[in-house]
Amino acid sequence: MAVQQFKAESKKLLDLMIHSIYTHKEIFLRELISNASDALDKLYFKSLTDTSISLKKEDYKIHLSIDKDLRTITISDNGIGMTEQELENNLGTIAKSGSLDFKKENTGDDIDIIGQFGVGFYSAFMVASHVTVITRPYGSEQAYKWESSGAEGYTITPCQKDSFGTDIILVVKENADEENYDEFLDQYRLVSIVKKYSDYIRYPITMYQEHSRKKEGSEDEYETYTELETLNSMIPLWKRDKKDVSDEEYNNFYKEKFMDFSDPARIISSKTEGSATYNALLFVPGRAPFNYYTRDYEKGLQLYASGVLIMDKCADLLPDYFSFVKGLVDSQDLSLNISREMLQHDNQLKLIRTTLERKIKNELLSMLRNDREKYDEFFKNFGLQLKAGCYEGYGINKDNLKDLLLFHSAKQNKLVTLAEYAESMPKTETTEQKYIYYAAGSSVEQLSKLPATERVLDKGYDILYLTDDIDEFALQVLREYDGKEFRNISSGEDLGLETEQEKEEAKAQNEQNKDLFAAMKSALGDKVSEVRLSTRLKNHPVCITSEGALSIEMEKVLNSMPNAEKVQSKKILEVNGTHPIFEVLQTLEKDGKTEKLGDYANVLYNQALLIEGLPVEDPVAYAQAICSIMAEKA
Ligand code: ADP
Repeated sequence: MAVQQFKAESKKLLDLMIHSIYTHKEIFLRELISNASDALDKLYFKSLTDTSISLKKEDYKIHLSIDKDLRTITISDNGIGMTEQELENNLGTIAKSGSLDFKKENTGDDIDIIGQFGVGFYSAFMVASHVTVITRPYGSEQAYKWESSGAEGYTITPCQKDSFGTDIILVVKENADEENYDEFLDQYRLVSIVKKYSDYIRYPITMYQEHSRKKEGSEDEYETYTELETLNSMIPLWKRDKKDVSDEEYNNFYKEKFMDFSDPARIISSKTEGSATYNALLFVPGRAPFNYYTRDYEKGLQLYASGVLIMDKCADLLPDYFSFVKGLVDSQDLSLNISREMLQHDNQLKLIRTTLERKIKNELLSMLRNDREKYDEFFKNFGLQLKAGCYEGYGINKDNLKDLLLFHSAKQNKLVTLAEYAESMPKTETTEQKYIYYAAGSSVEQLSKLPATERVLDKGYDILYLTDDIDEFALQVLREYDGKEFRNISSGEDLGLETEQEKEEAKAQNEQNKDLFAAMKSALGDKVSEVRLSTRLKNHPVCITSEGALSIEMEKVLNSMPNAEKVQSKKILEVNGTHPIFEVLQTLEKDGKTEKLGDYANVLYNQALLIEGLPVEDPVAYAQAICSIMAEKA
């Protein structure tokens, strides 16, 4: 009997399988079971029109067996089977585009792809040293045997088989140095592989299971017995009607599948038909995974093609800002052998992603509206991600996300949405609020003590306290909410707090004290770009504000990043004209005590830095300056 060579392309894929160092070799079983399931499907469809097929739906089966002595695993089905020609065509060549693509892509060490896509029948060679396929096509008496030990080629010979269908017999490789193949001869291991990957195959996957029991009438004698068991549940949870599944079932499913100790915060189960037909079962975790905010975290949903897992973490199904969502999508429109490359361009997948995104958002909004406590908790876990999502890509997703954000309200001392902030703004003509105010710093406590805070709150306006590094960047990208611009209360920009008259008065006073401010500016040099009278201070003597897009807090954030180029915000020293110190400064200037005025300016500047949470530039000089002023008074 002539040994036939594999076609060139097939040989390459085969080589890859034989020499695979892939750690999840277990997926061979998924592949063979899914082929068997396809063969059953084909016969079933045929039976719909061919009345000579008397098989009932429940007669279709996949059966597994192990023979430890012979080191074999057998996967049998009573499906459509293959003719001699089909054997030749199907198992001697790779005809399908998915695998061809796979081969093309797999030039590097991209071996991981094996775990993500159907690589088909040849994956058997990851665990088997020899593979035999005995098959008899439905409607024919003649069976054929295909045999191969891999690289040398294959043979096809006629043989006997009692009934139609296919048996695939793998001779499991011997254990090698670091490779354990014996595990695949263990019944429990096989059962767990079936449960993991093929639980939802729509046909029963049966196997005789060995159990042990006490011998009848005996106290301590045991006997083993075997029992035919169905290993798979056949009906996926996500295909069941929402109302028939208890929360507990969903919770357990989530915890088991996604390895979490806590129940999910939210369950999203949906069935979509039409341009994309799929079921989705999604979960918002109850807490952030320990590695969530690290590079190690991998986003993605499990992707099933008609009940068969084809990808464990399909990243393309989720936008980054919803990367915390876990779950799965089961699509009727995808082929099992679709490659990663093709998947990325798959329109079906894009459609699914868009609808899922909308579903997740709506679900979060509904949680926000109807279960605020839970939402606050959710936001503590994943709010940072949403805010980062707002900022990313220059804000392309900001409109999608802005209503999901929460910030700490100074007035209400709790987290509020931007809409809630906007709603609570004073609306009468005289009190009309021009901006949405915020302050950025390290803690609510620190921010509540900022010099500028007092004045804004006194006016009856609320302030959002931003304490996460990303916050101010996110708001800058948002720019406005409900037509109101965001304003940092520590920025030198107009805060819209004064009346026209007050503004005029301030201008006149600045003019009157022109020389004083010039002298102070000259003593401070480049540290500040201007010294001027403040309109934002009530009780504090001085404060520092910034000019331009870069705020003082942003300067801190950016400079704290590793390897960052140092940036500096443009600072303005503002002096409170109603504070007693102001008179002292005026007197010093009038009396021509320039040097002393310079010392005072420096001390005040450093005080303002301290209040802002910025480091004093020269602590020794600052301490000495204060000391000399104190000594003088005594
Ligand atoms: P794929 O299943 O993606 O087409 P495979 O390499 O796994 O690729 O299988 C190649 C072909 O061999 C299948 O398309 C199918 O026609 C045939 N085949 C494999 N296993 C069986 C089986 N158990 N019964 C009938 N045909 C089979």
